[in-house]
Amino acid sequence: LLLSPTAAHAQKTKKLASASAKTIDQRLDELLGQMTLEEKIGQLNQYTGDAATGPAVTDNNKLGQIRSGQVGSMLNVKGAARTRALQTEALKSRLEIPLLFGLDVIHGYQTTFPIPLGEAASWDLAAIRQSAHIAAREAAAAGQHWTFAPMVDIARDPRWGRVMEGAGEDPYLGSLIAKVRVLGFQGENLGGTDAVMACAKHFAAYGAAIAGRDYNTVDMSRRTLWETYLPPFKAALDAGAATFMNSFNELDGIPATGNRYLQRDILKGQWNFQGFVVSDWGSIGEMIAHGYAKDNKEAALQAITAGSDMDMESRSYMPNLPALVREGKVPEALVNDAVRRILRKKFELGLFDDPYKFSDEKREKQVLADPQSRTTARDVARKSIVLLKNENNVLPLSKQTKTVAIIGPLGQSKRQHLGFWNVSEDSTQVVSLYEGLQNKLGKSAKLLYAKGCGITGDSQADFAAAVQTAQQADVVVMAVGEARDMSGEAKSRAEIYLPGQQEALIKAIVQTGKPVVVLVMAGRPLIFNWTADHAPAILYTWWLGSEAGNAMADVLVGDYNPAGKLPMSFPRSLGQIPIFYAAKSTGRPSKNEQDINYRSAYLDMPNAPRYAFGYGLSYTTFDYSNLTLNTKQLKKADKLTVSFTLTNKGKYAGEEVAQLYLRDVVASVTRPVKELKDFQKVMLKPGESKTLTFTIDQEKLAFYNPDMKWTTEPGEFRLMIGSASSDIRLEDTFELVD
Ligand code: BGC
Repeated sequence: LLLSPTAAHAQKTKKLASASAKTIDQRLDELLGQMTLEEKIGQLNQYTGDAATGPAVTDNNKLGQIRSGQVGSMLNVKGAARTRALQTEALKSRLEIPLLFGLDVIHGYQTTFPIPLGEAASWDLAAIRQSAHIAAREAAAAGQHWTFAPMVDIARDPRWGRVMEGAGEDPYLGSLIAKVRVLGFQGENLGGTDAVMACAKHFAAYGAAIAGRDYNTVDMSRRTLWETYLPPFKAALDAGAATFMNSFNELDGIPATGNRYLQRDILKGQWNFQGFVVSDWGSIGEMIAHGYAKDNKEAALQAITAGSDMDMESRSYMPNLPALVREGKVPEALVNDAVRRILRKKFELGLFDDPYKFSDEKREKQVLADPQSRTTARDVARKSIVLLKNENNVLPLSKQTKTVAIIGPLGQSKRQHLGFWNVSEDSTQVVSLYEGLQNKLGKSAKLLYAKGCGITGDSQADFAAAVQTAQQADVVVMAVGEARDMSGEAKSRAEIYLPGQQEALIKAIVQTGKPVVVLVMAGRPLIFNWTADHAPAILYTWWLGSEAGNAMADVLVGDYNPAGKLPMSFPRSLGQIPIFYAAKSTGRPSKNEQDINYRSAYLDMPNAPRYAFGYGLSYTTFDYSNLTLNTKQLKKADKLTVSFTLTNKGKYAGEEVAQLYLRDVVASVTRPVKELKDFQKVMLKPGESKTLTFTIDQEKLAFYNPDMKWTTEPGEFRLMIGSASSDIRLEDTFELVD
């Protein structure tokens, strides 16, 4: 009798641990009982695939290990057919334990969504969740079980290239976004074929690399760790994140990968995390270069002891752990715990019942072609755009516009919009700005194009032609920014200006006197002071993905009224970095920017950023009025109810993100001058008013006291409501009483 591989496997598994009747724990016990030490350690071993097309593994040695149960997981193997083929190899092993396939699906699989920092600018939790869901659905249809996302690292230094992967500088916004990303990727429970396991990374404090240089040392107080850097991880965990990834950096002298305090005490101890921790790529072995382990064997010992369950490409565990266990240096119980955590996820995903359930070529084809994904991508893309400036109502473009000049090195680019950490390399599916405007304006307006200069490089040779093109147009739309690979992993920049000659090009074009709209496309906050002072209109578009051009065109002509708000402060000067809104007061605060005498200020630069956290304009204007608090004396058991009226004063319908900030005026430890504690995104028709209500519970008033206890203290609080952290419209105070 010839059984299909799936049926044959199901039959074998039944013999092993007669599936349906037993709980996962029983099945785990039975399986573990049959595993040799080498087979157990094999489950902790993760390798990368060798090739992007053809057989995923070309190294015979590696293939042999897969066939003999010495590999538990593979990353970078894409596609239903290729994962299926490799799974078949793994099922040749003695116990037929299926492989787990993981991949960096950070902002889309086939359909590319905006980079995560861009999506964060939408402050639209439902949209962000939907984007993660579609990414997961596509990835799962293409053989993946697991994405190495979301990255929930707080980032306050725009020189760090990985700011593009996260949700920006704020722990409150970052936590909400971490939660919806996890839910979007995973759904409510593992096991569905339109979801993948999430991985909250990089645990922890990776975003605080000194001087913004990737992988660099992190040195921070425990208070800052707990107040600012850990909350998004806790939120991801509470949302059910199945896995965590540790990080490359050290913290307080101990590499995160070998850090017991982070992984054992906090994550698996205090937080009771039941999933597993994967190391970052090679991070176990990197502890040697850190000066924390003398060789790979010692690194393996440090990592497993500290709580790193899976070894991603350090190749430290497989060759060393068996000996470490036999020598009595690593208790087998530690290995068993790590294996159980990993196998549990394989059971929860349903891989023991059907190891091919995610590798279905027919479903892959259907899902990857679903046009609804593109519609959602366009919607999320336009929600991610931030209007930084709009003088003389240059935007939206007038219906009378007859000729539009698109100028700049990114005007016709498709590939760049894929951003960093794109899975699909197919740039033919990307809509360029030029194409987007062409789709939008059709025959009603003529489009001209001049490149002007490269993204990088010193040449101004093409400026003259660009100026000439501008002169023939009613309006100029400039497309400038970074190349997509200037932000991302190992893409730190010391000088975060518009690269090359681009700002000089903007100057040359603005000086023609034509109305100019500048679109800045980048993976991080950039500094462009001349443009900010002189260009009439600026839109920040990040990297918007597959539907970039259509989304930008929607915003340019006013079919969509931009509502994005910055999730990170934009500095005026490199010298201000790190810069973030939730700073503390010093003993010598500046009352105003001019007041620098013996104040905490620069002689040569204001303290304020160019654009603050939470900032972003609309084609309409919003008025805030009638602030009402249900009490000025809040008892500890009670909640404060805050309401106010938001009115659309302009002539366009639009959305506003109304933001609520708090300050604990005097406390047993100093508190930031402003902390985001809530927000609402609301749509208002022209002239329409709505009453918005916020509830402030004790949790929003709590902080870590000098003993690091999470608590509230009686006293005065300042309440601030506004359109940005720099644009507070309503203020009041209340008192927390015993
Ligand atoms: C990155 C991780 C990523 C991993 C696998 C590492 O270099 O730091 O974020 O998930 O590679 O690609």
